[in-house]
Amino acid sequence: MIIAIAGSQLGENVRILKAEVTKTAYQGVLIAVATIIIATLLVSYFSVGELSLNGIVSAQKNNIALWFLDCTPFIFGFWGQYSSTMLAYKAGAMVFDQTQELRNEANNLEKQTHHISTHDSLTDLPNRTLFYDRVERAIVTADDQNQLLSILLMEVENFKDIYNTLGRNSSDLVLKQVSARLKKVSRERDVIAKIDSNVFGFLLVDIANLSIAERLAQTIQQAMEPPFIINHSKVTVHPVMGIAHFPDHGDDVDTLIQRASVALHTAQHSSIGYCIYEPSFDKLNPKRLTLMSEFREAIERDELELYYQAKVSIQTGELLGAEALVRWNHPVYGLTSPDYFIPMIVEYTRIIKHVTLWAFQRAFRNCADWHKQGIDIKVSVNLSTKELHDPELPDLIAGVAASTGIKPEWIMLEISEGSVMKEPEITLEIVERLHRMGYQFSIDDFGTEFTSLAYLKKMPLTELKIDKSFVMNILNSENDSTIVKAIINLAHNLGLQVTAIGVENQEIMAKLKEYDCDMAQGYFLHKPFSATEFIQWMNSSKWKAGRSANKN
Ligand code: C2E
Ligand code: MG
Repeated sequence: MIIAIAGSQLGENVRILKAEVTKTAYQGVLIAVATIIIATLLVSYFSVGELSLNGIVSAQKNNIALWFLDCTPFIFGFWGQYSSTMLAYKAGAMVFDQTQELRNEANNLEKQTHHISTHDSLTDLPNRTLFYDRVERAIVTADDQNQLLSILLMEVENFKDIYNTLGRNSSDLVLKQVSARLKKVSRERDVIAKIDSNVFGFLLVDIANLSIAERLAQTIQQAMEPPFIINHSKVTVHPVMGIAHFPDHGDDVDTLIQRASVALHTAQHSSIGYCIYEPSFDKLNPKRLTLMSEFREAIERDELELYYQAKVSIQTGELLGAEALVRWNHPVYGLTSPDYFIPMIVEYTRIIKHVTLWAFQRAFRNCADWHKQGIDIKVSVNLSTKELHDPELPDLIAGVAASTGIKPEWIMLEISEGSVMKEPEITLEIVERLHRMGYQFSIDDFGTEFTSLAYLKKMPLTELKIDKSFVMNILNSENDSTIVKAIINLAHNLGLQVTAIGVENQEIMAKLKEYDCDMAQGYFLHKPFSATEFIQWMNSSKWKAGRSANKN
C-alpha cells in the first residue's frame, strides 16, 4: 500500500519536473527558430540585396549553413525532451529516496519512543504498563482457547538493605544481574517485566498444568542462590514470590496481579519463600475483596465525596488552607475512611488513576469556586506513592487545571515520606516537572520513615507536615515533644514551613506556638467536612481566610 502510494507520488513528481524542463526545451526551440529566421533574412539580404520571398527561398535552397541551422530546433526539441525526461526521473528518484529515508527515520524514532515508554530503562525489560497489557491480552487468548496461565511476582526482599549499603549505582548493577539471571531461567514465550523498583513479574502463558509456576519459583530460588559479585563484593539476594493462576484466582488483570501480590506478602512470612494464592490469605479482612470489587463502580455511582479540613496559622490565627480528604460513602458501611480503601486500591493502577483524576477534578473545582468568591486559601491534595511514579501525572494535573481554571499557586501537593524513597529518581523527575509548572509540594506524615536528609534537600519542597502520631502526644510524651521540636527546627533550617496534624485541643495548639510551629490542622479546629459544610464553617468560625483579588 505504502509502495503504491509512493509510486504514484513519484509519477506525479516526474510529471511536474518534466513539465518544468520541457518549458525550458520549448524556449530553446523558439530561440533556434528565431535564429533561423534572422539568419535566413540576413543571408537573403546580403546575397540578393533585398528582403523578398524569392531571396528567402533562394537563401534556404542554396545556403548549406542554413540547412544545418534548420535542423537545430529538432535537435533542441529532441534533446530537451530526452534530458528533461532523464532529469525528471533522476530528481524524482532522489526525492523518493530521501522521503523513504525520512520515513524510515520517523519510524525508528516512533519505535524508540514507544520502547522507552514501555520498558524499564535500567534492565530494558517490559515495564508495568506493558506487563499489564500483555497479561490482559493473554487472558483474552487463554479464555478463547481454554488455556491456563499463571502470574508470578518476585520481589528482591532485601533490596532496601542493598541500596542503603551499596548506594544507587551498585544496587542498580544488582538489579541488572538479577534480571539477566531471570531471563536465563524463563521460557522463551513467557513475559518477564520489571513492574516496580524491586519487583519483577512473570507471565506464564499456555501452561500444561499449574505446577509449572511453582517449579519456576524453585528454579528462580536456585538461580538467585550464588552471590552476585558487585565491585569485588559478594551480594546475596533474597527473592520472595507470589503466584496466582487464571482462571482459578481471577479472570481480569487487576484481580490476578493483586492476588499474586497478596500471595507475595504472605510469602514474606513463610519459610519456603514463595506462596500460591489462597482465598484464606484474605481472611484477615473478609470485607476486603467484596469492597474491592464494589469500589470499581463507586465513582460511577457517585459514592465518593471530597471532605476538607482547615489549616490555620498558629501565630496569626489566619485560615491559610484546607486539605482535601476523600471519603467513600458506602451504601451499607457508611462513610469509609481513605486509610481503609486507599492502601487496598493502590495495587490497582487503573483504579487509583481514576480516583486521582476524580479527586483533582473535585478539589480544583472547589478551589476555583472559593477563589471566585474571594476566599484566598490554598487547597492541599494527597498523592499516593504509586501516583507519584506515573509519568502521565503532570499532564493529567495540567489538563484538570486548564479545565477548572485554577492557578497552580493555589494548590499544595502532599506526598508521603515513603514515596520519596521508593523510586527516588522517577519521583524527583515528576515532582520537578510539576514544580516548574508552579505547584508546591509538602512532605506528609513526616517522621514515620527515615528519609535521607540529603534527598529531602534535593526536593523542591515548601512544607513539611508532622505526623499526627507525634503531635497528639506532645503533652504526655517527652520523646514525642522532643521529636516535634527537632522536626520544626530541621524544617526551618531547610527553609520549609511546618504544619502539625492531630492538633486535638487548645493545649497542644499552645505548645506548638511555643515551639514556633507555623500551621495547625486537627480536630481542635474541626473534623473534616464536606465542601458545603466547610463553607458554612468558614463563614461562622473565628479563623478567617484572606480575601483574594480574584473576587468577581
Ligand atoms: P493524611 O494526609 O495524613 O491526612 C490527615 C489524616 O489525619 C486525615 O485522615 C484526617 O482526618 C486525620 N486527622 C486530622 N486531624 C486529626 C486529629 O486531630 N486527630 C486524629 N485522630 N486524626 C486527625 P483521613 O481523612 O482518614 O485520611 C487518611 C489518609 O488517607 C490521609 O492521611 C491521606 O494519606 C489519605 N488520603 C486522603 N484522601 C486522599 C486522596 O484523595 N488521595 C490519596 N492518594 N490519599 C488520600
Ligand atoms: Mg495529607
